[in-house]
Amino acid sequence: MVKFTNVTKSYAGNSVRAVDGLDLILNTGEIFGFLGPNGAGKTTTIKMLTGILDIDEGSIEVFGHDIKKDSIEAKKLLGYVTDSGVLFEKLTGREFVDFMADVYGVSLEDRRRRAEPLLDRFGLREAFDKQIGTYSHGMKQKIAIIGALVHNPKVLVLDEPMVGLDPQSVREFKDIMRMHADAGNIVFFSTHVLDMAEKICDRIGIINKGKLIMAGDLDEIKAAKGDESLEDIFLSVAGSSAEA
Ligand code: ADP
Repeated sequence: MVKFTNVTKSYAGNSVRAVDGLDLILNTGEIFGFLGPNGAGKTTTIKMLTGILDIDEGSIEVFGHDIKKDSIEAKKLLGYVTDSGVLFEKLTGREFVDFMADVYGVSLEDRRRRAEPLLDRFGLREAFDKQIGTYSHGMKQKIAIIGALVHNPKVLVLDEPMVGLDPQSVREFKDIMRMHADAGNIVFFSTHVLDMAEKICDRIGIINKGKLIMAGDLDEIKAAKGDESLEDIFLSVAGSSAEA
C-alpha cells in the first residue's frame, strides 16, 4: 500500500500551505480518485509522492519504502504520467518507451510483451516509429502511459490524465486503469472532472485548500451525506468556485 502520514508542503514566498497534514492510505487493487478544484493541492501531492518535490513535514511510504530515505526503491515501484505532457518530442514513440524501459532495467522481452498489446489497444502501432513531436495530444498521453507502464509499476500515478481526450480515448484510458488495478496494483489519479471519478473509482478523496476533506468508498460517502450526488457533495465541501 501507499501511506501518506501528516504530509505537509509550503512553497517559498507563499504563506498558505499547498498541502496541509495529509493522512491517506491507498490499497492494492484499487483506483483512487483524488478530487479537488484548481489550486487544491493535487499536483503538489503527486509531485511529493513521485519524489519530484521534497516533503516539508510528514512521510510517504510506497510498499514500505520511504520516498525520502529509500527513494530509489520507492521510485522503482512508481509509474507516473504528468499533466504537463512534457515528453521527449524529438524521440520516436519506440525510442521513448525504450528509454523508459532502460531507466527501469526492463528486459527486451518484457518491454515488448508489455508495450505490444497497448500499442494495438491505443491504435499507436503505425505512429510508433514517428517522432512524438508529430503526435496529437491524445497520442502523446497514450505513449506516456505506455512508457509509465513498461516496468509494470505497483503504483500508477496520473495527474489529470483525461484532460483533452476524446471519448474513445477516455474509454481506453479507463480500461487500462481498471486492468492495472485488477492485476493487484494501485492506480492513483487526480481530477477536477467529477463524472470521471464517479464512473471509475473504487474510492475517492476530496482535497481543498491543501486539506483532505473526506476520503472513502463512493457509496459510503454518498450514504453519509444523505445520498447527495457527488457533484453536490463536492460543491458543498469544496465551495462553489467556478472551476468546480
Ligand atoms: P492543483 O493541482 O490541485 O490544481 P497545486 O498543487 O498545483 O493544485 O497547487 C496548490 C497550491 O500551491 C495553490 O495555491 C498554488 O497556487 C500553489 N503552488 C503550486 N505550485 C507553486 C509554485 N511553484 N510556487 C508557489 N506556489 C505554488
